[in-house]
Amino acid sequence: MRYCRICESLGFDVTKHLEQALERLERSDPSRLASEEDYGRRLSICAQCKEKLPDGTCKMCGCYVVLRARMAEGKCPYRNQWR
Ligand code: SF4
Repeated sequence: MRYCRICESLGFDVTKHLEQALERLERSDPSRLASEEDYGRRLSICAQCKEKLPDGTCKMCGCYVVLRARMAEGKCPYRNQWR
């Protein structure tokens, strides 16, 4: 996975930051989380989407798809592909 060159040059550990953000989200109110089934389905749609960038972000919104997809209220910003 490729990350932001500026973050890398500053020594920012994007992988660790992303893991921590996902862990915090998963420890929060369970009602905020998409079901495991929906989460997996969303990620598989993103994996085939031309808008997903090599750094794991969505070109349409700039979010990391693993975070957006994990949230119950998360929506695909491009033609609502997760519905
Ligand atoms: S959130 Fe939507 S537009 Fe973005 S990568 Fe996933 S499927 Fe594609």
